[in-house]
Amino acid sequence: MVRRLIFRNVRLANWLADYAAKTEQNTFERGIMLFDKHRVWDYHASEQGLHASVEDLHSTFFQVHIRWFKETDDISANHLPPNLDQIDAVCGCHSKAPFCEHITASIIYWIMRLDKSKGVGKTESAADQGDSPAYQALAARLKTIAASETPSYQRFDTSKLSICPAIQDSAEQIVKTVMAYVKNRAQ
Ligand SMILES: [Zn+2]
Repeated sequence: MVRRLIFRNVRLANWLADYAAKTEQNTFERGIMLFDKHRVWDYHASEQGLHASVEDLHSTFFQVHIRWFKETDDISANHLPPNLDQIDAVCGCHSKAPFCEHITASIIYWIMRLDKSKGVGKTESAADQGDSPAYQALAARLKTIAASETPSYQRFDTSKLSICPAIQDSAEQIVKTVMAYVKNRAQ
């Protein structure tokens, strides 16, 4: 699961950490899961925002509309999303939370696409030292998720977490622990 949230762009990682801080942790984790299970369909981004159709675990589809109130220079030129307070997100599930799991899945899909796009400058892709509060918040969440998703240890490539040495050490420790546990059970 965690393997998909690998960033080239530290500013995008920070943005997502800020978003995560404004979301219920369970909601954020369910959003990651939906993204990871490829439940984001019909994704379409424009200058004004984006639309996606997100399928939940019961095969129900919810329409997500996200608009932003700002000139989109940051998005088109720098491949950075607008500030969170300039985003209006609506989902057909009528969740009471400002950002539901379907919106979260769409946003993660969007952020990962931005991260893969070509606009990453060298300064932005420089490795985070792991000391920014936003990145630490995200790293803490990723560690929680990694710990609770033991079956993914087989596919967990810790070498790709080189963006942040602190999380790499923790992740490797988690994987080693899980592998030892599985090995013991198999004997
Ligand atoms: Zn929703």
